[in-house]
Amino acid sequence: MSGYGRSNFTWNGTLRELQTSSPASCKERARPAMAASASSSGVEVLLSNLQNLGDIESTLNILNVLDELLSAGTDRRIHYMISKGGSEALLTAMVKSARSFNPNYTLLLPLLHLLAKVGYRDRRIGMKAQNADAVRLTLSLLRQNSKHPRRAAACLWVLQVYCSSVSTANLLGECRAIDVIYRLICPYTTKTLHTIKAAIDALAALLCTKANVHSAVSKGYVAGLLRLYEDWSSKDTEHVAIAIRCALLRCLHEVTNSTAGRHALVAHGGIGLLYEVTQTCLFTKGLESLVDPSVQLMRKCYPKSTLPLKSDLSVYCLELPRQPGSVPAPEPELNGEEDSEEEDDEEDDSNESEEADSKDYDDDLETDPDKLRSRPAPDRPPELLAQYSRLRPELTYEFQELDSSSSEPEDCSSSSSDEEVQSSAEDASRLKPSDFNSCPTFRTKGRDASLSPRCAVLFRGNHGPREQREEEGAEEGAEEAQRRRTMVDTLAERHIGAGIPHHDRRLYRAAAVLAKSIPGFNILAFPDFWGHLPPPGNEPMPPRKPKVQRQKVFEDIQRLLNPDDVINEVVFDLEDPSPQCSSERSNSLKFFSKFESGNLRKATQVRRNEYDLILNADANCSQHTQWFYFEVSNMVANVPYRFNVINCEKTNSQFNYGMQPVLYSVREALEGRPHWKRTGTEICYYRNHFCAARGKKRSTFYTLTFTVTFRHNDDVCYLAYHYPYTYSALQSHLMVLHRSVDPSKVFFRQQVLCQTLSGNPCPLVTITACPATRGMRDLHQFRSRPCIVLTARVHPGESNASWVMKGTLEFLCSDDPVAQSLREAFVFKIIPMLNPDGVINGTHRCSLSGEDLNRQWCKPDPVLSPTIYHAKGFLYYLNSTGSTPLVFCDYHGHSRKKNVFLYGCSIKETLWQSGSDTGGLKEDPGYRTIPKTLDRLAPAFSFNSCNYQVEKSRSATARVVVWREIGVLRSYTMESTYNGCDQGIYKGLQTGTRELQDMGVKFCHSLLSVRRNVPSLYSSRRLVDHIDLDHNSHNCFEDDEPPCVEEIEYSTDGLSKLKGSDLDSDINGNTSSGDEQEEEEEVVVHKGFNPIRRCEGQSHQSSLRSRLFPHLIGHDLEVIEVLHMKRNSCNGVGITGRQYLS
Ligand SMILES: [Zn+2]
Repeated sequence: MSGYGRSNFTWNGTLRELQTSSPASCKERARPAMAASASSSGVEVLLSNLQNLGDIESTLNILNVLDELLSAGTDRRIHYMISKGGSEALLTAMVKSARSFNPNYTLLLPLLHLLAKVGYRDRRIGMKAQNADAVRLTLSLLRQNSKHPRRAAACLWVLQVYCSSVSTANLLGECRAIDVIYRLICPYTTKTLHTIKAAIDALAALLCTKANVHSAVSKGYVAGLLRLYEDWSSKDTEHVAIAIRCALLRCLHEVTNSTAGRHALVAHGGIGLLYEVTQTCLFTKGLESLVDPSVQLMRKCYPKSTLPLKSDLSVYCLELPRQPGSVPAPEPELNGEEDSEEEDDEEDDSNESEEADSKDYDDDLETDPDKLRSRPAPDRPPELLAQYSRLRPELTYEFQELDSSSSEPEDCSSSSSDEEVQSSAEDASRLKPSDFNSCPTFRTKGRDASLSPRCAVLFRGNHGPREQREEEGAEEGAEEAQRRRTMVDTLAERHIGAGIPHHDRRLYRAAAVLAKSIPGFNILAFPDFWGHLPPPGNEPMPPRKPKVQRQKVFEDIQRLLNPDDVINEVVFDLEDPSPQCSSERSNSLKFFSKFESGNLRKATQVRRNEYDLILNADANCSQHTQWFYFEVSNMVANVPYRFNVINCEKTNSQFNYGMQPVLYSVREALEGRPHWKRTGTEICYYRNHFCAARGKKRSTFYTLTFTVTFRHNDDVCYLAYHYPYTYSALQSHLMVLHRSVDPSKVFFRQQVLCQTLSGNPCPLVTITACPATRGMRDLHQFRSRPCIVLTARVHPGESNASWVMKGTLEFLCSDDPVAQSLREAFVFKIIPMLNPDGVINGTHRCSLSGEDLNRQWCKPDPVLSPTIYHAKGFLYYLNSTGSTPLVFCDYHGHSRKKNVFLYGCSIKETLWQSGSDTGGLKEDPGYRTIPKTLDRLAPAFSFNSCNYQVEKSRSATARVVVWREIGVLRSYTMESTYNGCDQGIYKGLQTGTRELQDMGVKFCHSLLSVRRNVPSLYSSRRLVDHIDLDHNSHNCFEDDEPPCVEEIEYSTDGLSKLKGSDLDSDINGNTSSGDEQEEEEEVVVHKGFNPIRRCEGQSHQSSLRSRLFPHLIGHDLEVIEVLHMKRNSCNGVGITGRQYLS
């Protein structure tokens, strides 16, 4: 059939093809000479003859030729026939023939078969059948022939394909087709399997409409289908009817797309039944195909339950300062519109992460070149910019010390840490005091900061674990608290940094005391206080255990089936501290999260070693749960504990692709291993049955489940989504850095950009090289250095961004010659944490105003988004003084992709990607320099994941606004994975803080590529030599993850959609034996019926060889001959010379 593709498909050609596909005899006879005509193709002639319905023999011949023609090759032929009116012709012929007084089934049966095959590929078959008046007729044929299995099967297939149209399916429903068909589905038998399966398939097709589902549910068919499934499953011991069992599951899937259907399934014990049957299928080869659809069905029908919370709103709420015009009140709680009947719980996932790929991606591109080019007017009057001159201290600094013979560096740039913080605060209050007058009162902590009680216990030598617990149970007195505070002091003094570079525990404590939080934290999380070192060695992404999700879902379902086995004890509640103190529950884990960046809201023990965890929503709103950080203690060593975070929101997660959470053990740290480590087995992420506590009934949650086996008894451990990096960590880090630099070489200033909503100073750091001398030339060079502006952590949950920034900051302050050269070439203006409030209060995405700050850049509100307002103001200021930054980069974390990559802005690439005309557009390609360099330098970096398109949905992000409004050509978002790399030397490894920090260093290296002609101590050649270039970049071409091995969603049924090839096979099987009289045969040995086929979802192209006319097969050539003659005599229309394919 290789000649199909040619464009000159003639009647001659058709015949030749038929001939080559038939036994190779009498070839020459079958090549008649054709009269030429340009008006119709061969198919059209056949169709025209078919509708005229001549004598039976010629009609059968036409059908046979059509079937031969269509069953070879691909579906394209069928579509061609459909385009030529094939469906209508078949319907007309079928109607005519069925309406005759005594229908001839020798003709009608093949007609129905071909109609089903063609109709399956014709999306409009339902409407066409209605127009041809064929719908009721086919149903009445079925009624008349319910005792004739083969005729009934043929009718059922045709009815099934009609249902591709909802209105036709509804029409059939009104004609009680559901009842007629349902009655054909009988309990287990070995006979007429074909017909039974055709009936189940037709029923499933009918159930595609709400009305039909409603009707089926109200008639109790759900219970009936369940009983049938049970019956077939228990009696089909030879597994010959797997296709029927699969088809029954499909029916159940269809019927449970409605709330009523799901309720009915549950009410009739469907979940228990499915669970039992599925357990018996698990270990039988061949029955595997039934497991996934059953699991999906159980998940889908698992009754929705609300999260056990009083309110969806975050525990951390505050009244926002009033401002005329824009006061986004905290999200109102929608009152539960009880059960919004029907309708799938699908909701759109519109508010996806920054820079995530959106589904209708191309629609999102800005295609208007004028909009892309135009520069909006500034969002504020120029007189407001003068205040930012203070943020360029390097321009006014006199460098007196350079002349003095004995410089005293301490005086000029170092001050004691506490003073620095104090002066920073004063600095900030000078900035705009009026903004903060209306600030809600924040509980400042005064001077106490201690470790959690359970942590403290670990330091007290002699007590046995039991005594410790008793102590904890006791009401904590002031003395005890004081004791713990003193202990922190002692620890801090005794081990200031203890081998952890750039970490000082005293400074950390001092910074933490000053950080203002909504709840007024006064407990330090041990890891942040003590410090972290990257663990030695690599941390590979663990391979996913096969079927792990299935196992977890079974465990979830058991909760429903055996509610008595569920403990369901709240062991931690952020809002109600009492349960955690309950000493009766001493055999449960203890949880705690009331510390900086912590955000566990509630923990419930569900089984002996299993806990459901609920994360706190972002402050002042009721969503954005993803980040987590909490303390866990009272564990028994070497026991696997299962943790389920049950209110995750994203539709997928890198946890399905090799990512692990991180764990920090206090005992390990005290033994000299202060490491955050990737931990957890049996990790998977899937949609669960929970919905919001109140309000949005349709909300959807996902479970992240992982199992942790702790090494030590009675340890205190911390678990987090990613390596934590708190605001206090930043503050203390900056103080350490400040003290570490040589002030005669490095100009380092920490200032306060502004105060946040809750009154925390947002630091801005200036780093550059001091001028060599006070000479005019040096000072001039110093003051004319271009700026590079770097920002990070606008999204609090993206702690990876902070680790990258930590790498950048340490490198820029270091003795490294490249760093020195960069300092001499540029002035770095760094805002390392754009959202301190969010970081402190453990939010994932938003600021305290409940808004995503990286969507506020177009017109930031000075009161509600002060850091963005002033960051943008500062950029405006630079721009207005002719110091537009050479590079702007905002560091982020990406939760759905691997590697590190940049997003930039290019008009040309945006227009090109959207298919718009880029004709003649000139654009500076300089935006590609940094990514290209990073591709050579940084092993974690993936050039192919970079993107330079300007999306409308990102028009208010830092990257786009700084590019468009400030005019920075090289304006980027740098995205670092939470997981690891799938290319380069880190392929298959999860990233740790070492790699993240290194990325921050490599980003600095790449800035060498944008240096202007700046005199330097080092030649470029030497610098490049200095940089480690031995990394060979391995571009990865696959950005997105492959489909998940197990379905994350439960709305998909796990059954591959009914395929045309399968329908064809079924139909062909109906004719494998020629004689109508044999239709009551035992079907077990039915040749054409392949019970496993459908479920395996394999394609059976080759099985398509037609058996429509078994009695004619083998006589092809005679048929053709006859046909040829008839055609000549009855029609006379020549058929050659017409293009078969246009
Ligand atoms: Zn982000």
